[in-house]
Amino acid sequence: MTSGVQQDITLQGVTKSFGAPGRQIEAVAPTDLVLQAGSMTALVGPSGCGKSTLLRLISGLEVPTRGQIRIGTETPDQLRRRAGLAVAFQDAALLPWRTVTGNVALGRSLAHRPRDRAAVAELIRLVGLSGFERHRPAELSGGMRQRAAIARALAGLPELLLLDEPFGAVDELTRDRLNTELPPLWEARGATAVLVTHSVAEAVRLSDRIIVLTPRPARVAADIAVTLARPRTAEVLASDAFRAICAQVSQALRLHQVSEGIPAQ
Ligand code: ADP
Ligand code: MG
Repeated sequence: MTSGVQQDITLQGVTKSFGAPGRQIEAVAPTDLVLQAGSMTALVGPSGCGKSTLLRLISGLEVPTRGQIRIGTETPDQLRRRAGLAVAFQDAALLPWRTVTGNVALGRSLAHRPRDRAAVAELIRLVGLSGFERHRPAELSGGMRQRAAIARALAGLPELLLLDEPFGAVDELTRDRLNTELPPLWEARGATAVLVTHSVAEAVRLSDRIIVLTPRPARVAADIAVTLARPRTAEVLASDAFRAICAQVSQALRLHQVSEGIPAQ
């Protein structure tokens, strides 16, 4: 059993542009960041600003145009190749011919973890898919597919967990339950996590730090520490301190909202 990687994620002068020279779209402006080992960071920002691109860069699925990313001394690609990181994307990306159990078990085997039926069944239970073990992705709703994808990502006990709007299609009640029950799974192991979410309240509830990004190209607009006690009990979530941080994040988002390059009022 691997404990947390205990390695910071370092981004140095990282940029990302897409497209042919001369017609390039700059998705990520020069970015320097250190994400502390064992912490959860939320990335929030307007649609299309470059959040997923930043996450994909950290995952090693995209390569920076300039600059470098390290997790400890490893490149994201090295960490990915030894299955030290797992990603749950918004579009779930399950294998269509595999059942829920098959997809979740794959998360374990790809991470070179021994077979463990009980662990797989427990994860499926935790994401609320008991009774759907033998269903294939096409037989599930979008929210159920996302939950299966989260179970698959967690099944490999990753050191680094990257979540791209993982609860986007999940109904509010289930989302609330997942936001309570899932974080202990990675917190207990000291895993490092990065979450992209549209929900300010979810970002504040789950993370230690919130990076607010500008409209494209993404740059850091605000860097807000979430100094709330853990676990984030109903009492913490109802506190003035919680509301104050939510207001701070919302204000940072509004401040940097632009339309056609013109700052909003
Ligand atoms: P977000 O996740 O914040 O909504 P993305 O990171 O998906 O935003 O996209 C940021 C910008 O980069 C968008 O303008 C998008 O069209 C562009 N982009 C993302 N991926 C690619 C790609 N593979 N090729 C070309 N452009 C891309
Ligand atoms: Mg995205």
